[in-house]
Amino acid sequence: MKFHLISLGCPKNTVDSEDVVATLTRQGLTWVGTPEQADLVLLNTCGFIRDAKEESLRHVFQLLELKKARPRLRVAVFGCLVQRYQEELRREIPEIDHLFTFFDKTSLSALVKGLARRAGGVRPETPARRFLTPNHVGFLKIAEGCSNRCSYCTIPDIRGPFRPRPLDEVLRDAEVLVRTGARELSIMAQDTAGYGVPTRNKELLLELVRKVGEFPTVHWIRLHYLHPRHLDFPFLDALFSLPKVVPYFDIPFQHVSDRLLALMNRAVTKRQIIDLLRHIRGTFKRSVVRTTFIVGFPGESEEEFEELIDFIEDHPIDRLGAFPYSHEEGTPAARLRPRIRAAEKSRRLDQLMTAQQLLSFDRNNKKIGKIDEILIDKADASGLVGRTYGDAFEVDNAVHVPYDATVQPGDFIKVRFTGADAYDLEAERVL
Ligand code: SF4
Repeated sequence: MKFHLISLGCPKNTVDSEDVVATLTRQGLTWVGTPEQADLVLLNTCGFIRDAKEESLRHVFQLLELKKARPRLRVAVFGCLVQRYQEELRREIPEIDHLFTFFDKTSLSALVKGLARRAGGVRPETPARRFLTPNHVGFLKIAEGCSNRCSYCTIPDIRGPFRPRPLDEVLRDAEVLVRTGARELSIMAQDTAGYGVPTRNKELLLELVRKVGEFPTVHWIRLHYLHPRHLDFPFLDALFSLPKVVPYFDIPFQHVSDRLLALMNRAVTKRQIIDLLRHIRGTFKRSVVRTTFIVGFPGESEEEFEELIDFIEDHPIDRLGAFPYSHEEGTPAARLRPRIRAAEKSRRLDQLMTAQQLLSFDRNNKKIGKIDEILIDKADASGLVGRTYGDAFEVDNAVHVPYDATVQPGDFIKVRFTGADAYDLEAERVL
């Protein structure tokens, strides 16, 4: 039996999807590259905010269209959207053949067993490649769920409380990623820096990262989603001084107004954010800071929004993602008033991103003439595409380099930057 999987949402979802793909291939099913070639298509959904829910539903309906033309096709939908709206989906879209939450392992294993019987048996070995991410990029999920209860966020309800995965289990996953070619490991969870918090042993994350760094072929370790509430300076310094950890500080701030930070239940203040940034800039000379901001949170005044704009001018952020506040039923923030109109949220988003674009353009231009190492993600006749240590896979800036037949995805090469725009750079190889 041939199957395909579409993975939506965040990289943590991608890890779950890779897990499902590995399970199915181990059970004897064959991966194919498009839904059109498949007998079974699985869709791993995202249900985090309104846009994500709409995108998930769009994909469901596209697959059901495909099924109309090919009635034997089976469609399985799982993940966050199902976790949140299982009953509604079952009732409203009965054409979906299989519906299960990812956490509902019983449904998955029943489905897999049934399919494996039809596919002719189990192949016990670990798959030699990954299907949803290039082999040189490894996403390593170290925990499930979140207990921070930011007032706007549905994740603690969808994914449950924070549960760190045992260290030996994480290391086994890291070993599989390395065996399938990972040169960069991106360590992630909803609350990565909180890994040791439930056992009151923050050192545990240091131990994990140190051990992951011992794989000789791993060259970069990237830490994602570090909640600022866990980042005291000694811990931060110890973490980012470990071998192979790149100075890429992915720390979501969400806002800088003290009033809004408190309403968001972020457990940090503007002063703490500024001190943290100053400490990072002073201690790690090559630091690259990524953060996210939410605009249009209920009651966000024009002054509070301007505070964000002033902040990025006074404390430059290297990589910024911004989102309009999404009203999610069941969250404490959904009860707050006044709500900001959609048109106003878009205006604020545009204004913030335009300000950031100008800053980013300036910063990129200053790189011209400088030399750096990049990791190649793509190599074909149209050229090479790579990233610096300051750029996460499929999230941040790309570096474009003329084609070179001796370079493959997963290679690290040295380049000199020759051109820049706000988000991407051009470069030539230097030997
Ligand atoms: S840290 Fe806050 S925003 Fe992030 S998943 Fe947890 S509750 Fe949601």
